[in-house]
Amino acid sequence: MAPNRLIDSFGRAHSYLRISVTDRCNLRCVYCMPHDGLEWKKRDELLTYEEITRLAVIFAAMGITKIRLTGGEPMVRKGLSTLVRDLGAIAELKTLAMTTNATLLAEHAKELKELGLNALNISLDTFSKERFTAIARLDQFDQVMAGIYAAIECGFDSLKINMVVMAGVNDDEVMAFADFAAKHKINVRFIEYMPFKDNQWTSAKVVTYKDMLAEIEKRYELTRMVNDPSAVAKDYAIAGGGSVSFITSMSESFCSTCNRLRLTNDGSIKSCLFYPAEINLRDAMRKGASDNDLEGMILYSLVQKPEAHPPAEEIAAGENRAMIEIGG
Ligand code: SAM
Ligand code: SF4
Repeated sequence: MAPNRLIDSFGRAHSYLRISVTDRCNLRCVYCMPHDGLEWKKRDELLTYEEITRLAVIFAAMGITKIRLTGGEPMVRKGLSTLVRDLGAIAELKTLAMTTNATLLAEHAKELKELGLNALNISLDTFSKERFTAIARLDQFDQVMAGIYAAIECGFDSLKINMVVMAGVNDDEVMAFADFAAKHKINVRFIEYMPFKDNQWTSAKVVTYKDMLAEIEKRYELTRMVNDPSAVAKDYAIAGGGSVSFITSMSESFCSTCNRLRLTNDGSIKSCLFYPAEINLRDAMRKGASDNDLEGMILYSLVQKPEAHPPAEEIAAGENRAMIEIGG
């Protein structure tokens, strides 16, 4: 395999690319979608599937071995299976993953797996139908649960449930999610609530991983698992099967081992989720940039990558796009 060329100014090698395929979503989660909604981008502002595949091939030749499709809700974009098929054919990729709200998953899970998708993260923040409707601002709980059970049945190499934990909103369900992980022998990831534009974040609503861990340990024997050094999660095996993980973006940042790049739906590279600098590849491609030109722009985005993101309060007060616009 060719050496990784995606090295930033602090020596971090990048092997993981998150690609947002759309800014649209069929849910309106309070922690993600700005309260007043968003104006969706026009079709021609988004990268086409051909453009995404061209860039993915370039990134893979430079060192990317894992791609995650995200959004917005990736499954609301028509013809997503074509993109999965084309990305699934890139030899350098070991992992082709997707993060989805699972509303449309039940009927497509099997097909996507057959086309090369081998890892799935599904967002679920509550097991209560009423609470789901309050958080997601749409009544889609039954569809989501059907999608989750379809995915469990398909047997993906990796299947994770993402729960954004918010004090006073759903933190009383942490144990129920640990029970779900143990019962189905899957991974549940508890995510600390992060601040984005207009997303109702306050520091008082952050539940830290130490509190969640202490709660779960009241019922389960947990063993810390050895992670790959760039993993953002702290993973714990549950005695008897299943595992729980914590994404500690707020209480303990993991910038020093960050190996991620993001490609936004409108074709910008974002080298840090919390840093506004972006370099637009779409416009360059549409003006006839060669693969070499695009490689140069990708390398320049790495030069701009900061060593670490600022503290949470500063992020909350600053300028950044909403999570749904960037691609989670
Ligand atoms: N629509 C898909 C979904 O919900 O899984 C993919 C996009 S969503 C933006 C990606 C992930 O970001 C989800 O797991 C979601 O829970 C998480 N997320 C969104 N806003 C967040 C926030 N303010 N803090 C922490 N995680 C957040
Ligand atoms: Fe949509 Fe996912 Fe954001 Fe919820 S978290 S509004 S499902 S993009």
